[in-house]
Amino acid sequence: MTDRITGPNSQAMWKRAQELMPGGVNSPVRAFGAVGGEPPFVARAKGSRIWDVDGREMIDYVCSWGPLILGHAPEAVVSAVRAAAGSGTSFGAPTAAEVELAEIVTRAFPSIEMVRLVNSGTEAAMSALRLARGFTGRSKVVKFEGCYHGHTDGLLVKAGSGAATLSIPGSHGVPAGYAAETLLARYNDIDSARQVVEAHASDVACIIVEPIAGNMGVVPPEEGFLAGLRELASENGILLIFDEVITGFRVAFGGMQERTGVRADLTVLGKIIGGGLPIGAYGGRREIMERLAPLGPVYQAGTLSGNPIATAAGLATLRALEEDPGVYASLDAKGAELEEGLREAASSAGVPATVNRLGSMMTAFFNAGPVTDYESAKRSDTERYGRYFRRMLAAGVALAPSQFEAAFVSTAHTDKDISRTIEAATEAMRGLE
Ligand code: PMP
Repeated sequence: MTDRITGPNSQAMWKRAQELMPGGVNSPVRAFGAVGGEPPFVARAKGSRIWDVDGREMIDYVCSWGPLILGHAPEAVVSAVRAAAGSGTSFGAPTAAEVELAEIVTRAFPSIEMVRLVNSGTEAAMSALRLARGFTGRSKVVKFEGCYHGHTDGLLVKAGSGAATLSIPGSHGVPAGYAAETLLARYNDIDSARQVVEAHASDVACIIVEPIAGNMGVVPPEEGFLAGLRELASENGILLIFDEVITGFRVAFGGMQERTGVRADLTVLGKIIGGGLPIGAYGGRREIMERLAPLGPVYQAGTLSGNPIATAAGLATLRALEEDPGVYASLDAKGAELEEGLREAASSAGVPATVNRLGSMMTAFFNAGPVTDYESAKRSDTERYGRYFRRMLAAGVALAPSQFEAAFVSTAHTDKDISRTIEAATEAMRGLE
C-alpha cells in the first residue's frame, strides 16, 4: 500500500478506536476492510467538502451514505436544528413539525395516505414488514438478492451493502426459522419473482424491493421490472413495498414512484427525510396504515419517534428541495457529467468499467458489464476498486469504501468539483489495468 491516506492524528485515533469498538467503528463498512488502508477520522464538513482530523480536505461523494442531498451543514438545516434544539430536544408527545413532515411526505408520494415516523431505515423496513404481515395474515416475504433493507433478522439474507462488502452471505445470529420466511428472487428478473410467488402464493405477505438497487452498487430497474412486480403483487393479494430509503427525494421529489408511475402499497423512507439526523418513515394506503396501534392490532412504538430535531432538519431539507423547481434537473446534469467523465477516464486507461447511474446516484463498477443484478455486480474486480479508492482518497476525493455502494452528488457539488474529480479519476485509473 503506497498511497498515504491518513495522517498521524487519524492513525492515533484508529488505534484507540480499535481497542474500544468492534473493528474500530459503529457500522462495518466504515472500517475500510474492503478497500485496504485505515479510515481518516472526520473533524468537520461543509458543502461538498469534508476535513479529517489532520486537516486534509476532500471532495465527499459519500454524503453520509445518501441523506445529504444539500451537501454538508447547509445553512437552512443548521439553523433549523439550532432553533429546534433550543426549544427542547425530545418530548415524547405530538408536535406540529411531525404533522408538517407528514404533509410533505404524503404530498410527494400519492401512494402514501398516512405515514409513521421512526428512527432509522432499518426500523422503518422492519415495521413495514410487520404491518404487511398483520394486514395480510401471511408470513413470507419476497426480497431480491443484493437488495439491503437494514439489518433486521429476516432481511439479512443475500443483503448486499456491508454484507456484500465483507462477503457474508447472511449473518450468524439469525434463527434459521426467520431466514426461512424470506424468499429470494433475482433483481431485474420478473420470471424469478413470479416463480417464487407461484410456489408460495398464499403464504406471501409482501414483496420488498429497492426500486433502484443501491446496495450492490447502483443497479437501475430494467424497463417493465417494477410494473411487473406491481402486477404480480396485485394478482396474488400481496403487498408491494418499495424501499425508497435511498431513492426517496433523491431521484425525484416523489422518488422512483414519481419517475415510473408505479405505485407501491407501502413505502419505506429514511436518509433525506431526516436531513442527516436519525429518522425513518413508512407509509401507504389508509386501510393498511390504520391497522397500526393505536387504531389497530399491529404494534410499533418509539420513545424518540418524530424527534423534534430530526423532524426540523428533515423539514428544512424537504422544503429547500420543494422550493427549487430546477433541483432534480441540475442534480441529474451534474450526475451525467460525472458519469461521462468516469467512463472516459476508465476507457482512456484501458480499464474495463461499467458506470451505472440514475439521477445523482451512481457506481463505477470495475467490471466489463453489463451490471444488472447481484450476480453481475459481484463479478467486479474489488481489489482494483480498492486501489482506485485509495488513489482517489490520496488525491482528495472521498468515495464509498466499497465497490458495492453508491456515489452521491449533492446540490453543493460545483462544476469545478466534478471536473476536479474527473481529473483525479483519470490519473487514478492510469496504471490500474
Ligand atoms: N434500506 C435501504 C435501501 C438502505 O440503503 C438502507 C441503509 N443504507 C436501509 C434500508 C437501512 O437504513 P438505516 O441504515 O438508516 O437503518
